Amino acid sequence: MSLVLPSIVHLDADAFFVSCELALRPDLRGTKCAVGGRERGIISSASYEARACGVYTPMPTQRALKICPDLILLPHTSGLYSRKSREMFDRCETLTPLVQRNSIDEGYLDLGPCGFGSADELAARVRQLQQQLWDQLQLPVSFGLATNKLVSQIASKLRKPRGFVIVPPGTEAAFLAPLSIGKLPGVGAKTEALLTERHGLRLVGDLLTRSERELETIFGRGWRGMVAMARGEDDRSVDTEHDDAKSYSQQETFGHDLSEFSEIERIAKRMVDELLPKIRADGKRVRTLTLKIRYPDFSQASHGRSLPEATDLEAPFYPLIGPLLRAAWQERRPLRLISVRFSTVEEGGRQLEMFGEAEEKRRRLAAIVDQLNQKTGEAVRHGHQLARKRERP
Ligand SMILES: [Mg+2]
Repeated sequence: MSLVLPSIVHLDADAFFVSCELALRPDLRGTKCAVGGRERGIISSASYEARACGVYTPMPTQRALKICPDLILLPHTSGLYSRKSREMFDRCETLTPLVQRNSIDEGYLDLGPCGFGSADELAARVRQLQQQLWDQLQLPVSFGLATNKLVSQIASKLRKPRGFVIVPPGTEAAFLAPLSIGKLPGVGAKTEALLTERHGLRLVGDLLTRSERELETIFGRGWRGMVAMARGEDDRSVDTEHDDAKSYSQQETFGHDLSEFSEIERIAKRMVDELLPKIRADGKRVRTLTLKIRYPDFSQASHGRSLPEATDLEAPFYPLIGPLLRAAWQERRPLRLISVRFSTVEEGGRQLEMFGEAEEKRRRLAAIVDQLNQKTGEAVRHGHQLARKRERP
């Protein structure tokens, strides 16, 4: 008989960008501070003290300063976050070679092959890693331990900051049942409100009290997946080749379902405009743009395309947005959500011969625009961001 251990770990650094800055400026620990500064006027990471004051991400900086006037704004430090991220995952690799970097501050570990004899031994070793990350890198990181990715991911987010939650094998469904349904991946705040108000689904466990027919009416084709999640079932393995490690993405749930192509296209362009400055700030270039759409019944579609060369500029991606939206949005039903993801990330700094001088000029212009926006907060806009005015005089 083989012993089942909660050997899948999800780790999630707490307020990552801010924590990286605080590692350099420990004097600011315990203060209301936030990173993102005035670049595009958006807060990209806030300390827990600032969150307690009502600051969240992404929030316009001006609004954050209004509700929290003593907020200390820290500018993005180029290169710092990717370096800290590397150091964090390097420490993880001393524990197991099976590390999946999900994003700059989140990932999974599979401790299955490490030969731990008991759940206690395994948990003690993970606690030790958590302590190391704090002592050596000054990074607060939360951990979830469970038998699979889904449950460990939910567990890690439950007691932030520096949380440590173990879900013993066999207790997955019981662990999830009392949690609000918004804790399930893919169920955002607006969806949660809809499920609660319209369908009376408040807790994860509520899903298991409904008939198949009811669930199919609510979730459409996605209903089986919802039930599997509520039961805490997930058979995905930890993928060390995972490519999301290096991606930048953003998603937006619409206040009401949208069906006008030009409106959705404009939102996607704005998201591209919001992501590229982050990519430049990190000193990276990206090659692949993927657009994902979701219908109100949770079914979704996506389409991606790559440029011949990686870039850190907005302009080369604009011509892809319309075709990608058309390709993904085959069923012309109203949409509930759109997400934009840049992947195939490369280190920046390489000159692109193929675009030559024009590209260089654009890059210098982009740097100037980023600087202006940092100083003034979204003062400089791209032409298409003003399109609404021109269309409807
Ligand atoms: Mg995090």
